[in-house]
Amino acid sequence: HGTVVLAATPIGNVADASARLMALMERADIVAAEDTRRLYDLARRLGVHVNGRVVAFHDHNERAKADGLLDEVETGACVLVVSDAGMPTINDPGLSIVRRAIERGLPVTCAPGPSAVLDALALSGLPTDRFCYEGFLPRKHSERVQRLRSLQSERRTIVFYETPHRIADSMDDLLSAFGPDRRMALARELTKDYEEVRRGTIAEILDGVAADPPRGEIVLVIAGASEDEARENSAATLSVGELAVL
Ligand code: SAM
Repeated sequence: HGTVVLAATPIGNVADASARLMALMERADIVAAEDTRRLYDLARRLGVHVNGRVVAFHDHNERAKADGLLDEVETGACVLVVSDAGMPTINDPGLSIVRRAIERGLPVTCAPGPSAVLDALALSGLPTDRFCYEGFLPRKHSERVQRLRSLQSERRTIVFYETPHRIADSMDDLLSAFGPDRRMALARELTKDYEEVRRGTIAEILDGVAADPPRGEIVLVIAGASEDEARENSAATLSVGELAVL
């Protein structure tokens, strides 16, 4: 058997590429890349040569392609899976090949590295002992409000991915769901030249977003509910539920 290797790629600073990633890029028999041009661009910047076959492996074809790639693993190939940035499978392609490899009893391993979730969490200054990752909030306002409502009593630190064109709307919805005083951090352009982390209450960060709209890639980290808040919020949810029953 060969093996499937998921590998994290830099989220901005190319020097974050691990020695293992570079060796894999040179030695893998097949590189399954979310965007093949970005893979070659990374290779050029790292000064490594991709010797294996390169195939496009993205959200729209990964299910269809996973089994074909695993057939090659079965006959001895090393298949490297990379996304455009950060850890594959984290809001990026990769999960379908992991699942199928497990189902088929084929080896799968990971060359870990940069991921915006942990970078932002560690820099937020908020508790890291228990956290949950919520990916991107839904685009539709009503769904976003509902998602945030379901998190009102969450005690763990919450991490969201966000984009510059939705940040203002999301901040309004965060304020409605969690109130003005909850602590949070807005991290953007992590590992890049214009890396910035804004820390404060939701109200303060919202004001800052209006005054100086953040550009680039963004991660939001929100403190979990205090014991009192969690109790109040679940009591509020309960009474709505009770009303529904009546
Ligand atoms: N797989 C990636 C990872 O492990 O972080 C995430 C891919 S997801 C499609 C892209 C989102 O990740 C961006 O919209 C942003 O929320 C976050 N992100 C990626 N790179 C970032 C960076 N350098 N600074 C801040 N956020 C980043």
